[in-house]
Amino acid sequence: MSLNRRTVLVRLSLAALVGGAFLVPRAHTQVPARAAWLDSYREAATRLIHASTSDDFAWRRLAEFTDTYGHRLSGSENLDRAIAWVVDTMKRDGLENVRTEPVMVPRWVRGRESAEIIAPPRHSLAILGLGGSIGTLAGGIEAEVIVVSGFEDLRARAADVKGRIVLFNAPFTTYADTVGYRTGGPWAASRLGAVAALVRGVGPTGLRTPHTGSLQYGQGAAPIPAASVAAEDADRIARLRARGVPVLVRLTMDARSEEDVESANVVGEIRGRERPHEIVLLGGHLDSWDVGTGASDDAVGCIVTWEAARLMMKLGLRPRRTVRIVLWTNEENGLRGATAYAARHAAHAADHVFALESDSGIFEPVSLGFSGSAAARTLIREIGTLLAPVGLTEIVGGGGGADIGPIAHAGNAPMMAYLGNPARYFAIHHTPADTIEHITPKEVSKAAAAIAVMAYVVAEMPERLPK
Ligand SMILES: [Zn+2]
Repeated sequence: MSLNRRTVLVRLSLAALVGGAFLVPRAHTQVPARAAWLDSYREAATRLIHASTSDDFAWRRLAEFTDTYGHRLSGSENLDRAIAWVVDTMKRDGLENVRTEPVMVPRWVRGRESAEIIAPPRHSLAILGLGGSIGTLAGGIEAEVIVVSGFEDLRARAADVKGRIVLFNAPFTTYADTVGYRTGGPWAASRLGAVAALVRGVGPTGLRTPHTGSLQYGQGAAPIPAASVAAEDADRIARLRARGVPVLVRLTMDARSEEDVESANVVGEIRGRERPHEIVLLGGHLDSWDVGTGASDDAVGCIVTWEAARLMMKLGLRPRRTVRIVLWTNEENGLRGATAYAARHAAHAADHVFALESDSGIFEPVSLGFSGSAAARTLIREIGTLLAPVGLTEIVGGGGGADIGPIAHAGNAPMMAYLGNPARYFAIHHTPADTIEHITPKEVSKAAAAIAVMAYVVAEMPERLPK
């Protein structure tokens, strides 16, 4: 055992002796000392953590929710039924001002879809049409495939694109770095005369899994059908082409967009006992893609933020400010829920003192991302020391979320994101494998506990969190 390791162990046991109230210093990280101002919150934090981690209630609720309502694409009956159940259940939990706030959302229908290599030898491709894509004609599109490694490669080979199916075959690195091929690739290909686009799944190579998600068509070119293709199939096509073998693919998609339909954000609150107009906003999005059960994206984000409020209610912890849970609609293919919330509450944007979204999964190891002023960050890091008992000690950059973004920007509110391990999250993101089997009860309880403590202290502290 090295001296360093021994020192760490001594500190760990000291931390255990004092109830985990201070953190083991990490190399090169300035960890806040035990802050005296937090003493009045330690008991509440301990109760919230105990209530959450001694029970798998939230995981069972997630299971009931995803088993009963399945995937929940905007405009689907599944989503409507899920919204109604959430409203009823929040009321039964004793949350206050439970309501829906109506939002018009786009309705995209996948229909039947398939793709295959016609020759050489016939091979069925694992695809998922991209959300928002148009369909093909009934007999499908049959064309030779041109493989490009990215946008630069596409431009360099512009003369060869006309009449072809373009396959964007950029290996997954990070979501931020590769999602652009899914959102913008099909339109870039259509501008050069391509008849369809295939995009290598935006996720690590897994079990021959395509990853759906939204695309965006632009001006100046007709939309073309587009689908995600499993990394293994993309690689096979690329190898064939590299050997000079022509690859003929037939793509058939029934996808279509219909008229917008009414959906809703769901809101539930614990009204603040002294400053009810000041809002600590927590949430995730109820809609999902139309594959799997959208368990990680983002049923679990809804369940753990809602659970944070339920735990406060159950333990009789009514903070000074209002804790508001908003479970948004239409994050995946329109962000209409987020924009509608920001518009409806524009006059009160500045009253949002803090906004937290859980939409990156809850897979271990997790961290808390925070975006805000230096003064706010100092306080948040001190509050973060209360989370040592659940092993969550690190406050990193990158707070925010697609749904909280519009209102938080309007009100200049500090933002936090509960950030699950991206390697586990993106392996199943937007795939049929996004089911509860990948999520443990312990991870759910930990997320609910951490969010509850963070939200409670920010809602309870005498001075509002600085902007
Ligand atoms: Zn999401």
